[in-house]
Amino acid sequence: MSNIREHLKKVREKQSQKRTTNNRGENIWHSWKASSNKARFVGDFILTKTHYIGNNSKISNLALFEDAAFQGENRLSVVINCANWDIEKEEYKKNGPCLVCKLNKIAREVLKSNQPGEEDTITSEMRKEFADLKARTDNRSAYRWNILDRDNPDVAEGKAGFKITSLGQELFDQLSAIHDGYAPNDFTSVDLGLDISVKRTGGGDSKERVKYSAQPAMLDGKLCVTPLSDEEKAYEQHVLLGICGRQADQELLVSKLLEKWTSLIEAVKQNESAAATANNAGPSDDKKADSDETPEATESTDTKEATAEEDPF
Ligand SMILES: [Zn+2]
Repeated sequence: MSNIREHLKKVREKQSQKRTTNNRGENIWHSWKASSNKARFVGDFILTKTHYIGNNSKISNLALFEDAAFQGENRLSVVINCANWDIEKEEYKKNGPCLVCKLNKIAREVLKSNQPGEEDTITSEMRKEFADLKARTDNRSAYRWNILDRDNPDVAEGKAGFKITSLGQELFDQLSAIHDGYAPNDFTSVDLGLDISVKRTGGGDSKERVKYSAQPAMLDGKLCVTPLSDEEKAYEQHVLLGICGRQADQELLVSKLLEKWTSLIEAVKQNESAAATANNAGPSDDKKADSDETPEATESTDTKEATAEEDPF
Protein backbone atom coordinates (compact mmCIF):
# COMPACT_ATOMS: atom_id res chain seq x y z
CA MET A 1 0.00 0.00 0.00
CA SER A 2 1.71 3.11 -1.19
CA ASN A 3 -0.49 5.65 0.44
CA ILE A 4 -1.60 5.62 4.06
CA ARG A 5 -4.65 7.71 3.27
CA GLU A 6 -5.91 5.13 0.81
CA HIS A 7 -5.11 2.35 3.20
CA LEU A 8 -7.04 4.03 6.03
CA LYS A 9 -9.98 4.65 3.74
CA LYS A 10 -10.08 1.04 2.64
CA VAL A 11 -9.87 -0.31 6.20
CA ARG A 12 -12.55 2.08 7.46
CA GLU A 13 -14.89 1.23 4.61
CA LYS A 14 -14.48 -2.45 5.35
CA GLN A 15 -15.12 -1.89 9.04
CA SER A 16 -18.22 0.17 8.48
CA GLN A 17 -19.52 -2.42 6.01
CA LYS A 18 -18.96 -5.12 8.56
CA ARG A 19 -20.91 -3.14 11.10
CA THR A 20 -23.96 -2.45 9.01
CA THR A 21 -24.40 -5.38 6.65
CA ASN A 22 -24.64 -9.15 6.92
CA ASN A 23 -22.56 -11.57 4.89
CA ARG A 24 -24.88 -11.17 1.91
CA GLY A 25 -24.15 -7.46 1.90
CA GLU A 26 -27.64 -6.64 3.17
CA ASN A 27 -28.40 -4.04 5.76
CA ILE A 28 -30.99 -5.85 7.80
CA TRP A 29 -31.08 -3.46 10.76
CA HIS A 30 -34.08 -1.23 11.07
CA SER A 31 -34.10 1.97 13.06
CA TRP A 32 -37.02 4.23 13.91
CA LYS A 33 -36.60 7.53 12.15
CA ALA A 34 -37.73 10.86 13.58
CA SER A 35 -41.46 11.58 13.20
CA SER A 36 -43.51 8.92 11.44
CA ASN A 37 -42.78 5.31 10.47
CA LYS A 38 -44.88 2.51 9.12
CA ALA A 39 -44.03 -1.14 9.68
CA ARG A 40 -45.61 -4.57 9.32
CA PHE A 41 -44.58 -6.86 12.18
CA VAL A 42 -44.40 -10.55 11.30
CA GLY A 43 -44.06 -13.62 13.50
CA ASP A 44 -42.81 -13.88 17.05
CA PHE A 45 -40.33 -11.63 18.87
CA ILE A 46 -37.47 -12.37 21.24
CA LEU A 47 -36.63 -10.51 24.43
CA THR A 48 -32.99 -9.59 24.95
CA LYS A 49 -31.37 -7.70 27.82
CA THR A 50 -28.65 -5.33 26.77
CA HIS A 51 -26.01 -3.09 28.29
CA TYR A 52 -24.84 0.09 26.63
CA ILE A 53 -21.10 0.06 27.28
CA GLY A 54 -19.98 2.68 24.75
CA ASN A 55 -18.68 6.08 25.74
CA ASN A 56 -20.48 9.35 25.39
CA SER A 57 -19.94 12.84 26.67
CA LYS A 58 -22.74 12.69 29.26
CA ILE A 59 -21.14 9.84 31.11
CA SER A 60 -17.47 10.43 30.38
CA ASN A 61 -16.53 10.11 34.07
CA LEU A 62 -18.13 6.70 34.04
CA ALA A 63 -16.42 5.22 31.01
CA LEU A 64 -16.04 1.50 31.53
CA PHE A 65 -13.57 1.09 28.69
CA GLU A 66 -11.15 3.35 26.86
CA ASP A 67 -12.24 4.75 23.51
CA ALA A 68 -9.62 2.52 21.88
CA ALA A 69 -11.51 -0.58 23.04
CA PHE A 70 -14.18 0.21 20.45
CA GLN A 71 -11.75 0.40 17.56
CA GLY A 72 -9.63 -2.02 15.62
CA GLU A 73 -9.53 -5.75 15.22
CA ASN A 74 -10.94 -7.05 18.52
CA ARG A 75 -13.13 -4.07 19.17
CA LEU A 76 -16.07 -4.19 21.52
CA SER A 77 -19.61 -3.42 20.45
CA VAL A 78 -21.14 -0.41 22.17
CA VAL A 79 -24.22 -2.46 22.99
CA ILE A 80 -23.81 -5.99 24.29
CA ASN A 81 -26.18 -8.68 25.44
CA CYS A 82 -26.30 -9.17 29.20
CA ALA A 83 -24.54 -12.50 29.73
CA ASN A 84 -26.72 -13.16 32.80
CA TRP A 85 -29.86 -13.31 30.66
CA ASP A 86 -30.86 -16.62 29.09
CA ILE A 87 -32.51 -15.54 25.84
CA GLU A 88 -34.04 -18.92 25.10
CA LYS A 89 -35.60 -19.40 28.53
CA GLU A 90 -36.28 -15.68 28.99
CA GLU A 91 -35.00 -15.71 32.54
CA TYR A 92 -31.86 -14.74 34.45
CA LYS A 93 -29.19 -17.38 34.91
CA LYS A 94 -28.05 -18.16 38.42
CA ASN A 95 -24.51 -16.86 38.92
CA GLY A 96 -24.22 -15.61 35.36
CA PRO A 97 -20.84 -14.33 34.16
CA CYS A 98 -21.84 -10.80 33.11
CA LEU A 99 -19.02 -8.38 33.89
CA VAL A 100 -21.26 -5.31 33.66
CA CYS A 101 -23.76 -6.83 36.10
CA LYS A 102 -20.86 -7.56 38.44
CA LEU A 103 -20.15 -3.82 38.62
CA ASN A 104 -23.86 -3.15 38.98
CA LYS A 105 -24.05 -5.51 41.94
CA ILE A 106 -21.08 -3.83 43.63
CA ALA A 107 -22.72 -0.41 43.18
CA ARG A 108 -26.02 -1.65 44.62
CA GLU A 109 -24.35 -3.21 47.62
CA VAL A 110 -22.32 -0.09 48.39
CA LEU A 111 -25.48 2.03 48.18
CA LYS A 112 -27.45 -0.43 50.30
CA SER A 113 -24.90 -0.47 53.10
CA ASN A 114 -24.30 3.28 52.98
CA GLN A 115 -27.70 4.90 53.16
CA PRO A 116 -27.74 8.70 53.50
CA GLY A 117 -28.22 9.76 57.12
CA GLU A 118 -26.48 6.75 58.58
CA GLU A 119 -23.03 7.08 60.02
CA ASP A 120 -21.06 8.22 57.02
CA THR A 121 -18.64 5.64 55.73
CA ILE A 122 -18.53 7.14 52.26
CA THR A 123 -18.64 10.73 51.11
CA SER A 124 -21.65 12.13 49.31
CA GLU A 125 -19.49 12.34 46.16
CA MET A 126 -18.78 8.64 46.41
CA ARG A 127 -22.43 7.90 46.98
CA LYS A 128 -23.26 9.86 43.85
CA GLU A 129 -20.57 8.08 41.90
CA PHE A 130 -21.90 4.67 42.89
CA ALA A 131 -25.47 5.75 42.10
CA ASP A 132 -24.24 6.81 38.66
CA LEU A 133 -22.35 3.56 38.26
CA LYS A 134 -25.50 1.64 39.13
CA ALA A 135 -27.54 3.55 36.53
CA ARG A 136 -24.71 3.16 34.02
CA THR A 137 -24.56 -0.62 34.39
CA ASP A 138 -28.28 -1.41 34.56
CA ASN A 139 -29.53 -3.47 31.68
CA ARG A 140 -32.45 -2.70 29.40
CA SER A 141 -35.03 -4.81 27.69
CA ALA A 142 -34.75 -4.87 23.91
CA TYR A 143 -37.44 -6.73 21.99
CA ARG A 144 -36.33 -7.93 18.56
CA TRP A 145 -38.79 -8.51 15.76
CA ASN A 146 -38.90 -9.19 12.02
CA ILE A 147 -40.63 -6.37 10.20
CA LEU A 148 -41.34 -5.13 6.71
CA ASP A 149 -40.28 -1.51 6.63
CA ARG A 150 -43.06 0.15 4.63
CA ASP A 151 -41.08 3.39 4.28
CA ASN A 152 -37.90 1.78 3.03
CA PRO A 153 -38.45 -1.91 2.19
CA ASP A 154 -35.01 -2.54 0.67
CA VAL A 155 -32.24 -4.40 2.48
CA ALA A 156 -29.91 -4.01 -0.49
CA GLU A 157 -30.20 -2.05 -3.70
CA GLY A 158 -33.37 -3.16 -5.45
CA LYS A 159 -33.91 -6.03 -3.01
CA ALA A 160 -36.66 -5.90 -0.41
CA GLY A 161 -36.83 -8.17 2.61
CA PHE A 162 -37.36 -8.47 6.32
CA LYS A 163 -35.45 -6.19 8.65
CA ILE A 164 -34.83 -6.67 12.34
CA THR A 165 -36.12 -3.95 14.57
CA SER A 166 -35.49 -3.27 18.24
CA LEU A 167 -38.15 -2.03 20.64
CA GLY A 168 -37.73 -0.70 24.12
CA GLN A 169 -40.25 -1.36 26.86
CA GLU A 170 -42.39 1.69 26.08
CA LEU A 171 -43.02 0.75 22.46
CA PHE A 172 -43.40 -2.92 23.29
CA ASP A 173 -46.15 -2.13 25.82
CA GLN A 174 -48.05 -0.23 23.16
CA LEU A 175 -47.78 -3.12 20.71
CA SER A 176 -49.06 -5.46 23.45
CA ALA A 177 -52.08 -3.20 23.82
CA ILE A 178 -52.64 -3.24 20.04
CA HIS A 179 -52.41 -7.03 20.15
CA ASP A 180 -55.06 -7.20 22.90
CA GLY A 181 -57.31 -4.75 21.11
CA TYR A 182 -57.17 -6.81 17.90
CA ALA A 183 -57.81 -10.18 19.59
CA PRO A 184 -58.78 -12.83 18.68
CA ASN A 185 -56.91 -11.86 15.52
CA ASP A 186 -53.16 -11.49 15.54
CA PHE A 187 -51.66 -8.24 14.29
CA THR A 188 -48.53 -10.12 13.12
CA SER A 189 -50.35 -12.86 11.19
CA VAL A 190 -49.54 -13.47 7.53
CA ASP A 191 -53.14 -13.08 6.37
CA LEU A 192 -54.79 -10.83 8.95
CA GLY A 193 -51.88 -8.74 10.21
CA LEU A 194 -51.92 -4.95 10.39
CA ASP A 195 -49.61 -2.18 9.35
CA ILE A 196 -48.53 -0.22 12.41
CA SER A 197 -47.74 3.49 12.55
CA VAL A 198 -44.96 4.44 14.94
CA LYS A 199 -44.20 8.04 15.85
CA ARG A 200 -40.86 9.01 17.31
CA THR A 201 -40.51 12.39 19.00
CA GLY A 202 -37.88 14.14 21.10
CA GLY A 203 -34.15 13.39 21.11
CA GLY A 204 -31.65 15.04 18.79
CA ASP A 205 -31.23 18.73 19.50
CA SER A 206 -34.37 18.95 21.60
CA LYS A 207 -33.96 18.43 25.32
CA GLU A 208 -36.96 16.13 25.28
CA ARG A 209 -36.62 12.44 25.99
CA VAL A 210 -37.12 10.24 22.94
CA LYS A 211 -40.69 8.96 22.99
CA TYR A 212 -42.51 6.45 20.87
CA SER A 213 -46.17 5.94 20.20
CA ALA A 214 -47.72 3.19 18.14
CA GLN A 215 -51.14 2.64 16.70
CA PRO A 216 -52.62 0.56 13.90
CA ALA A 217 -52.40 2.36 10.57
CA MET A 218 -55.82 3.39 9.25
CA LEU A 219 -57.11 3.49 5.69
CA ASP A 220 -60.44 5.23 4.96
CA GLY A 221 -61.29 5.08 8.65
CA LYS A 222 -60.64 1.35 8.85
CA LEU A 223 -57.81 -0.79 10.21
CA CYS A 224 -55.21 -1.36 7.54
CA VAL A 225 -55.24 -5.17 7.21
CA THR A 226 -52.32 -6.11 4.98
CA PRO A 227 -52.09 -9.78 4.00
CA LEU A 228 -48.54 -10.54 2.87
CA SER A 229 -48.18 -10.73 -0.88
CA ASP A 230 -46.75 -13.91 -2.42
CA GLU A 231 -43.49 -12.06 -2.86
CA GLU A 232 -43.41 -11.00 0.79
CA LYS A 233 -44.27 -14.51 1.92
CA ALA A 234 -41.20 -15.74 0.08
CA TYR A 235 -38.82 -13.42 1.99
CA GLU A 236 -36.68 -15.26 4.48
CA GLN A 237 -37.45 -14.32 8.08
CA HIS A 238 -34.34 -13.72 10.17
CA VAL A 239 -33.59 -16.27 12.87
CA LEU A 240 -33.68 -13.81 15.74
CA LEU A 241 -32.18 -16.08 18.39
CA GLY A 242 -29.17 -16.79 16.21
CA ILE A 243 -28.59 -13.23 15.08
CA CYS A 244 -29.52 -11.22 18.18
CA GLY A 245 -28.53 -13.77 20.80
CA ARG A 246 -24.78 -13.58 20.36
CA GLN A 247 -22.77 -13.03 23.48
CA ALA A 248 -19.79 -10.78 23.92
CA ASP A 249 -16.55 -12.49 24.84
CA GLN A 250 -16.39 -11.95 28.61
CA GLU A 251 -12.63 -12.53 28.69
CA LEU A 252 -12.17 -9.83 26.10
CA LEU A 253 -14.34 -7.48 28.15
CA VAL A 254 -12.32 -8.21 31.28
CA SER A 255 -9.07 -7.60 29.43
CA LYS A 256 -10.26 -4.22 28.19
CA LEU A 257 -11.96 -2.99 31.37
CA LEU A 258 -10.46 0.24 32.73
CA GLU A 259 -8.02 -0.27 35.57
CA LYS A 260 -10.16 1.61 38.11
CA TRP A 261 -13.02 -0.88 37.71
CA THR A 262 -10.73 -3.90 37.68
CA SER A 263 -9.25 -2.67 40.99
CA LEU A 264 -12.72 -2.12 42.42
CA ILE A 265 -13.78 -5.68 41.57
CA GLU A 266 -10.52 -7.02 43.00
CA ALA A 267 -10.90 -4.99 46.22
CA VAL A 268 -14.45 -6.25 46.74
CA LYS A 269 -13.31 -9.82 46.14
CA GLN A 270 -10.52 -9.49 48.70
CA ASN A 271 -12.91 -7.94 51.24
CA GLU A 272 -15.32 -10.82 50.76
CA SER A 273 -12.67 -13.47 51.21
CA ALA A 274 -11.31 -11.66 54.29
CA ALA A 275 -14.82 -11.56 55.74
CA ALA A 276 -15.34 -15.24 54.95
CA THR A 277 -12.04 -16.14 56.66
CA ALA A 278 -12.96 -14.03 59.70
CA ASN A 279 -16.30 -15.79 59.98
CA ASN A 280 -14.71 -19.11 59.20
CA ALA A 281 -18.17 -20.40 58.53
CA GLY A 282 -18.31 -20.95 54.80
CA PRO A 283 -20.85 -18.90 52.91
CA SER A 284 -22.33 -16.44 55.36
CA ASP A 285 -26.01 -15.69 55.73
CA ASP A 286 -25.30 -12.35 54.11
CA LYS A 287 -24.06 -14.05 51.02
CA LYS A 288 -27.06 -16.30 50.88
CA ALA A 289 -29.37 -13.32 51.09
CA ASP A 290 -27.49 -11.71 48.23
CA SER A 291 -27.78 -14.67 45.94
CA ASP A 292 -31.51 -14.83 46.62
CA GLU A 293 -31.95 -11.32 45.46
CA THR A 294 -33.92 -11.10 42.26
CA PRO A 295 -31.66 -10.11 39.40
CA GLU A 296 -34.60 -8.21 37.92
CA ALA A 297 -33.82 -5.56 40.47
CA THR A 298 -30.83 -4.61 38.37
CA GLU A 299 -33.02 -3.75 35.44
CA SER A 300 -33.32 -0.17 34.40
CA THR A 301 -36.64 1.44 35.17
CA ASP A 302 -35.81 4.06 32.61
CA THR A 303 -38.08 3.62 29.63
CA LYS A 304 -35.62 5.10 27.20
CA GLU A 305 -35.23 2.98 24.10
CA ALA A 306 -32.24 0.76 23.88
CA THR A 307 -31.51 1.81 20.36
CA ALA A 308 -27.92 2.41 19.45
CA GLU A 309 -26.46 4.07 16.41
CA GLU A 310 -24.60 0.90 15.72
CA ASP A 311 -26.16 -2.48 16.08
CA PRO A 312 -23.77 -4.92 17.63
CA PHE A 313 -25.19 -8.19 16.48
ZN1 LIG B 1 -25.50 -8.02 32.59
